[in-house]
Amino acid sequence: AVTVRGAYKRFGAQQVLAGVDLTVPAGEVTVILGPSGSGKSTLLRTINHLEKLDAGHVEVGGEPVGVRRHRGRFKELGERAILAQRGRIGFVFQNFNLFPHLTALENVAAAPAATGRRSRAQAREAARELLARVGLGDRAEAYPRQLSGGQQQRVAIARALALEPGVILFDEPTSALDPELVGEVLSVIKDLATGGTTLIVVTHEVGFAREVADSVVFLDGGRVLEQGPPADVLSAPRHPRTREFLSRVL
Ligand code: ATP
Ligand code: MG
Repeated sequence: AVTVRGAYKRFGAQQVLAGVDLTVPAGEVTVILGPSGSGKSTLLRTINHLEKLDAGHVEVGGEPVGVRRHRGRFKELGERAILAQRGRIGFVFQNFNLFPHLTALENVAAAPAATGRRSRAQAREAARELLARVGLGDRAEAYPRQLSGGQQQRVAIARALALEPGVILFDEPTSALDPELVGEVLSVIKDLATGGTTLIVVTHEVGFAREVADSVVFLDGGRVLEQGPPADVLSAPRHPRTREFLSRVL
């Protein structure tokens, strides 16, 4: 499970997260919707400690993120411990963020080989299987520039899976793609959801939310305004801000 409690974050004078509470049970899919600037990316980035909270607390798989308990208090983790922890939290970015000088296979195999948890040969073997799983078994030797946006994003998803994370965070995974490539990426994410991986997906794809999400969160002004099953939040939103937002994206 992923738990966020009382999360506050400001940049300068701007309060970007203003007391966010969120629970994503293990094996469930939560979709986060909200207007531009509402704090969606910041929230995801605090979950894997790319961004440090001013106040509040995040736990992933029962483990506090960025801190450890020491004599009943919380102490900041060191850089190495933070990196190890981040390895257990997959992150897929809008712009894929693949290494341009590495092949698809090398992109997927790099992190597990670097952690030393697997030999290079084992990491490459596992990477081949993951590429096959996202429908790219025949493109393992291609470089990112030789792949379409949808293919690059599927490599990025395989790379996130390579560290066997307890949860994968997606930040608008299809919003940089040409419309005809959106479906192939959503269908890979849907397969992960069906397979029981815990997912948090920031997206404006309301159809995907309706079909795949266990829970939909509407974030506005750094607060969770509304959360519930897609049938409630998407079809019968209670908050006027949610209704207004949905009328614009639908
Ligand atoms: P979008 O839909 O456009 O991606 P978002 O909901 O993901 O928006 P965030 O990226 O979380 O929004 O940003 C929330 C607010 O915080 C924005 O006003 C943004 O300008 C500001 N912000 C985010 N990161 C930083 C930073 N590192 N320094 C200063 N301001 C920041
Ligand atoms: Mg964002």
